[in-house]
Amino acid sequence: MEIKINSTTLSLIRGDITQEETEAIVNAANSRLAGGGGVDGAIHRAGGPKIMEECRKIGGCPTGSAIITAGGNLKARYVIHTVGPVYRDGKNREAGLLSSAYKKSLELAVSKGIKSIAFPSISTGAYGYPINEASEIALKTVIDFIKTEVGAQAAPLQLVRFVLFSDKDLKVYEESLKEITGKP
Ligand code: ADP
Repeated sequence: MEIKINSTTLSLIRGDITQEETEAIVNAANSRLAGGGGVDGAIHRAGGPKIMEECRKIGGCPTGSAIITAGGNLKARYVIHTVGPVYRDGKNREAGLLSSAYKKSLELAVSKGIKSIAFPSISTGAYGYPINEASEIALKTVIDFIKTEVGAQAAPLQLVRFVLFSDKDLKVYEESLKEITGKP
């Protein structure tokens, strides 16, 4: 599924983010940037040790923020590492922190002149964020960012893609996007 917001395309696909050819891919990292399982492990395995070397130098990243490294052996030139919240009960600022993880990643991308970026579904794996709610926050944050901040850029972001790891996750994101845009 794909929609256009001004001149930026927002697309939802099922796939493996390590294979993406967007200029940047986003990693759902932990605050120590120490690597781990899930998409984080997959990105470091596919990208090789250079990415971890850079992460070690940077040292860490608070929840809701983002940092950038080169993409090592990946097709993507950059990896933006962001840290989503661990979901407890929804009363610990989880929604704001999740939104911030997307927003800071997009801000970092735009500041580097990056024109295409792919996101995984941040926090909905090991960090336990219910995907129905997380997908709505993710999509609303991205759409809001494109509407308010991309238009003013000289080299605007052309493509924001969500790469969902299962058909089920893709369906949830598609339903959320339909609800947000009011399309059947
Ligand atoms: P978090 O700790 O932020 O919850 P996880 O990596 O555990 O991060 O999960 C986030 C999402 O990434 C999950 O939906 C998981 O299925 C998905 N995922 C895992 N591997 C990949 C991959 N190679 N490409 C895209 N998404 C992936």
